[in-house]
Amino acid sequence: MERPLKILLSEHQLQEGVTAVARQVAEVYGDRPLTIIGVMTGSVVMLADLIRQMEMPLRVGVVQASSYHGGVQRGELTINADLMPDITGREVLLVDDIFDTGHTLVEVTRLMRELRPTSIRTLVLLRKAGRQEVDLEPDFVVFEIPDEFVVGYGLDYEDEYRNLPHVAFLEPHEIKSDGS
Ligand code: 5GP
Ligand code: MG
Repeated sequence: MERPLKILLSEHQLQEGVTAVARQVAEVYGDRPLTIIGVMTGSVVMLADLIRQMEMPLRVGVVQASSYHGGVQRGELTINADLMPDITGREVLLVDDIFDTGHTLVEVTRLMRELRPTSIRTLVLLRKAGRQEVDLEPDFVVFEIPDEFVVGYGLDYEDEYRNLPHVAFLEPHEIKSDGS
């Protein structure tokens, strides 16, 4: 499989964006303890970069949510919170790779609210312009992007490309013609 070449966000731009958003997060929470929950697997690369820029007392956990069972079209959303740490009475920041229709973050925050955290805010690396189908807006957005399928810096296509250091467009010829 060839590496996608049409770069949307370079490694340098990503680092600058993550550094800037870490500052915004610090302005909100100050020195208060924070629990960061990353939505697996797409947020894993940003999560690693982000938490190393945070100086408040920090707990880190993950929740798994998946709506793409291979391919570029959404399927049924499944959420697995078995690995999530206790968030009752905690301030929680939920981190995901990309805010597209918004259904994933709506469902995950709904599930988390049942566990009675003190607060829940949401942070996404990317927000796809004009795609949202929900009332929720993320509290922190690192980059606004056009409505194209992207990979890299954690984002996959059929479980590949997560390790690209940049974010790239997946060109139509790189997507299987049946859209699966
Ligand atoms: P939503 O529920 O907001 O429609 O979708 C959010 C999830 O869909 C993201 O966490 C991500 O896993 C996946 N997703 C949406 N758009 C893209 C994209 O352009 N590229 C990749 N790799 N995943 C995407
Ligand atoms: Mg995801």
